[in-house]
This record gives sequence, structure tokens and C-alpha cells, in this order.
Amino acid sequence: MIILLDDQLVSRRQAQVDIEDRGYQFGDGIYEVIRVYEGNMYCLDPHVNRFMKSAEEIRLSLPFSSERLKDLLQELVSHNRLQEGNVYLQASRGTAPRTHAFPSKNTQPNIVAYTMKAPRPFEALKKGIQAITDEDIRWLRCDIKSLNLLGAVLAKQNAVDRGCQEAILHRDGRVTEGSSTNVFIVQDGQLYTHPANHLILHGITRQVVLNIAHELNIPVNEKVTSVDKLFQADEVFITSTTMEVTPVVSIDGRPVGEGKPGPITRRLQEAFEKQIG
Ligand code: PLP
Repeated sequence: MIILLDDQLVSRRQAQVDIEDRGYQFGDGIYEVIRVYEGNMYCLDPHVNRFMKSAEEIRLSLPFSSERLKDLLQELVSHNRLQEGNVYLQASRGTAPRTHAFPSKNTQPNIVAYTMKAPRPFEALKKGIQAITDEDIRWLRCDIKSLNLLGAVLAKQNAVDRGCQEAILHRDGRVTEGSSTNVFIVQDGQLYTHPANHLILHGITRQVVLNIAHELNIPVNEKVTSVDKLFQADEVFITSTTMEVTPVVSIDGRPVGEGKPGPITRRLQEAFEKQIG
């Protein structure tokens, strides 16, 4: 398999992680996941912009411009002839003797991107998924797409341990987002989702859905909702690059609405499908 290592396409075997890579030791780095539909990267600009923003927020200087990065990712996708799947991109602060503070200025970030074949999640899109609620124990800069994913890993595993596919997180009863998705609630024909602040990742799919809702004249409220309201919602769905717009049909074993994907979720799914097609 061919991967991107810094600014070169090389074979996967040529890429090695040093024991003192800061991403490996501290989770000191950032990442993106970009969906590929029919050979094209979907929403490439917003993904690359968010990657640049995450880098800036953690004071990591990247050795290339967003234009150059987009060209390199395009080369990677074309070279691997990826039709349906994902591109994973990450940058760590580089390799240096282990100490918490930043390494010397001449330490270069370690940048890697690779492609994965993956079908769209048709079954989940059609039937919906089951979720649990879980306490949000993550740090207070969830807007940065950082490599520190332990809070998300533990939450997702709690869901899996209970036979579910996603954990809907809350801070003191206030719903934030999913462990790897944004969460939307439908109540009385209106959408509710957490405001894009430091407590959630500003999902690219979230923004696509907000734009679609606007076009469809579905009222949107970027407001915090409680776990109680989540349980009373007419419909709940999650969004992400890989899960698109996926209905949530049960939470903590209780059915959401009628326990099947609701009409507003279906309308948004149809409109999303048109966008990617
Ligand atoms: N929230 C979290 C915590 C995530 O990890 C992700 C995606 O990985 C999302 C939301 C969805 O973001 P996007 O739509 O940009 O994939």
C-alpha cells in the first residue's frame, strides 16, 4: 500500500513510528478523516481548513500550505485508485527526547496520510443504531481534533459493551455530542444541536446538515438540550463523515419516538444523499 509520509508517497513498509514520536507518547498531534465518494474527497476544503485550525490551536507549525496539502492528498487518493472509503490524515509534533514541553524549534512534525476502502454504512443508515448515554469525561477543548482520544475510546467501548453503536455524551445532564459524532434532536418539527463551542467538535457533516435544514425550511436551534429532552425527543440522529446522517432508534434501551427512523431524519438523509451524489 502507498501512503503519504510528510510530502512523499512511499510504501507503507517505509513508514516507521519512532518510540519518541510525540503523537505516540503524548497524543500530541491532530488528525482528520475525509470521506471519498466515487473517487472524490467530499468536503475537502473544510476538512483541510479544520486541520490547519487544529494545528494552529495547539501551536504546531505545518511545513506546507493547505493548497499543497490538498494536492498531496489528491495524489494519494488517485495513486491508490480509491473509489469508496476514507482518507486518514494525522500530524504529530515530531520526534524528540521525551519531555512535556515543546521540543526544539527545528523538530519537524511527523505527517502521515493513508487510504482505507470502506463501503457506506447502509444498514445503519436504513435501520438506525442503538445508543447509550454516558458522562462526558473529555477535556475542555473538544473543538480541536486532537489525537488524545481516550475519553472517546472509553465511551465507545461502554456502548459496545452494552450491544450499542454509539455513546451520547453529557456534562451534568447537558448533552454535548457522540463519542465520534455530533448529535441532533428533533422536537415538534425543529432541530436542536449543541452550539459549536469548545465542548464539541465542529463537525463538517453537522454543518452540511445545518445548511440542508436551512434550505428545507426546518427550524434549527443551536442550543444545549438536556438528557431528559433527549429521551422525550420525537427523533434523534447522529452525524459524521463516516456515519453521514444516521438515525438513533433507541437510547439506554428505550425507544426514540416510535423506535424507528423518523420523517425529518429521512428528509435530511435524502437531501444529504443528493449532495454526495
Ligand atoms: N464529534 C466527534 C467527537 C468526532 O470525533 C467526530 C468525527 O470524528 C464528529 C463529531 C463528526 O465530525 P465530522 O462530521 O467532521 O466527521
